Amino acid sequence: MRRNRSPKPDLNMTIAGLLSDLATVQTSEQRKFGYKQAAQAIRSLDQPVEELRQRDGTLRRIPRIGPASTRVILEVLETGASPTVDAAVSTSPKAADIAKRRQWRSHFLSRATVRRALADPSLNGPTLAEYRGDLQMHSTWSDGSQTLGDIVQTGLGRGYAFAAVTDHSAGLPIAHGVSMQQFAEQHLEIDRLNAEHEGQFTLLKGVEANIRADGEVDVELQDRRAFEIVVAAPHSSLRSPVAQTGRMLAVVSSPAIHILGHPRGRMFSSRPGVSADWARVFAAAAESTVAIEIDGDPSRQDVDYVLARQALKAGCLFALDSDAHGVGEWAYAETAVAHARLAGVPPERIINCWPLERLLAWAAARSS
Ligand SMILES: [Zn+2]
Repeated sequence: MRRNRSPKPDLNMTIAGLLSDLATVQTSEQRKFGYKQAAQAIRSLDQPVEELRQRDGTLRRIPRIGPASTRVILEVLETGASPTVDAAVSTSPKAADIAKRRQWRSHFLSRATVRRALADPSLNGPTLAEYRGDLQMHSTWSDGSQTLGDIVQTGLGRGYAFAAVTDHSAGLPIAHGVSMQQFAEQHLEIDRLNAEHEGQFTLLKGVEANIRADGEVDVELQDRRAFEIVVAAPHSSLRSPVAQTGRMLAVVSSPAIHILGHPRGRMFSSRPGVSADWARVFAAAAESTVAIEIDGDPSRQDVDYVLARQALKAGCLFALDSDAHGVGEWAYAETAVAHARLAGVPPERIINCWPLERLLAWAAARSS
């Protein structure tokens, strides 16, 4: 029985990276946009690009992929590399910038690889059927486009039992952070919706609190107790190479925090996120029973399956979340599930796979 596997080489992701490099070297905004779109199209493609090659060697038409990007794809399929991109990068004044960006793409999965991991019966992680509810999402109360009613309907449609509404706290004005007074109003609406759907679906009262540089979160302890699920996540100092172990240790050791959300705050090809001694952070999180999030937003994938294996070894709990800001983003949870499967995290360790009563009992114990 194999618990631990690396995915097969992910050519879609390799190609997406090369197309992002091409976007970076462009001087025309229009071309830059075109290559970014192409990179995005390859990352979100359902099939491995190898399967789109036709008998005559040409590529089946892919939406948003033009002839210049097609040439890069064919080069990679033939040789594993792209002389076109290599030449463009080496003669570009952005070469050093691109070398940096390439380091900020490790262990990301393309949609095709996510689907393969979900379907691979040799992996021992959670199945989609075992996933009962999403624990990080945003509504129109902060920077999301989905109403609380949309969340209930989408959750029911996906066969979930619950979803936590985790709008941003007031400390993050850029994300339309919500005041405690507004949260009190939101909780009345949640109560009303829960009464309407009793026995079918439960909205959990949550918040995504912002971790400040000192490791304190921007929601006071007594205010945190007004929520059933507190996600604490970093949104600043995400580019510093200096280790921020103290910051992360402080947050996972604080009371009334349930989930360490997108622990690094990394972003595909654009920023590295927090660096820290993760073995120490995970050991402290295992001790305090704070769950480590696998954020499934395709541009985040934070933590990824490699770091998740470390957290698993340390004895951590996990939360697998979409971080959806709209109904079209709920499938991001599948990216998180794929990472958990590749890391071999058993469903028992995943709080989204617990029955609601168990989830609430654990959450209440953390808050008291
Ligand atoms: Zn966040």
